[in-house]
Amino acid sequence: MNKRIVVYRPLPEALLDELKRDFHVDDFGHLENFEDPVFRAALAEAHGLIGAGRPITAELLDAAPRLEAISSVSVGVDAYPVEELTRRGIQLCHTPDVLTETTADTGFLLIMATARRAVELADVVRRGDWQASIGGAHYGSDVHGKTLGMVGMGRIGAAIARRGALGFGMRILYSNASPKPALEDELGARRRELDELLAEADFVCVTVPLSAETERLIGERELGLMRDSAILVNIARGKVVDEAALIEALKAGRIRAAGLDVFEREPLPADSPLPHMANVVALPHIGSATHETRYAMARRAVDNIRLVLAGKRPLSPFNAPARTPA
Ligand code: NAP
Repeated sequence: MNKRIVVYRPLPEALLDELKRDFHVDDFGHLENFEDPVFRAALAEAHGLIGAGRPITAELLDAAPRLEAISSVSVGVDAYPVEELTRRGIQLCHTPDVLTETTADTGFLLIMATARRAVELADVVRRGDWQASIGGAHYGSDVHGKTLGMVGMGRIGAAIARRGALGFGMRILYSNASPKPALEDELGARRRELDELLAEADFVCVTVPLSAETERLIGERELGLMRDSAILVNIARGKVVDEAALIEALKAGRIRAAGLDVFEREPLPADSPLPHMANVVALPHIGSATHETRYAMARRAVDNIRLVLAGKRPLSPFNAPARTPA
């Protein structure tokens, strides 16, 4: 009997058809909520789960006693109880690498858009308020030649730093769990303690994964260490930055601007002041959202689950379950 896969995020038709050749696929690509009884019935029989974005709880895992693999269509795994999955012998897979360059493009887009006030000034044109040459009140600041401080120097951090160093002649500082000597050689990057980096950088760009250690890594104290001319870019996860403290720092002019792809709550609540602040560029979590990259992520997620359910090593495992699932 074919193994059963439950899908809870839209996948390209061609990839769904491919999966259906070897598996029984229950497609809940547009599922509204995990409590849906039809979804729950499918989950009870599922050997594999493909999706992203929604928190997976131990209670949900209890409802899926046959589960062997979860294949996330994302690189970040903060939505999954990783230790619990490992303990239960469930293989978690993710999609690193295929989204690195696209997400780095989005990070640099936010650096450029905030520095040059692109959204704020495009709005001036859109409103028909461009009546004369703009003056100093609307000038931005240079990106080239400035200091870029990377908080996190993993795959995406390095790709953003490479753009800054090689494309824009920026000086690169980074704070990261481990040193990155190869990037120091390649880009002239210099490792700093977080506090030093915050005090020195013109642009602080956050690319660390969300974890117990990184939740609210950038809070009121850290924002206070930044220059009042500095710009914060968050392309990682909203909860790495204390959003209330950020809003206060932006309102008080303690930092100049923020470029945000991610937020504490997504979609952004209607009463959030962030979209209405002139010194904020807010994007709806589009780090990897191009046709090419979203397809590549879905492709990787499908390949990962096929391999695990066939008893083979996936292309991009995240955990290492102690026992091979039956
Ligand atoms: P990665 O290669 O694992 O890089 C993460 C880096 O952060 C690593 O270099 C790691 O250090 C460092 N790090 C981890 N915990 C740390 C800590 N407590 N203190 C200091 N440094 C720490 O991951 P990636 O592929 O670059 O992705 C990074 C994150 O970006 C993802 O987890 C995801 O949340 C986010 N993301 C967002 C979007 C979006 O749409 N906005 C898209 C893709 C990814 P070591 O090298 O020493 O391990």
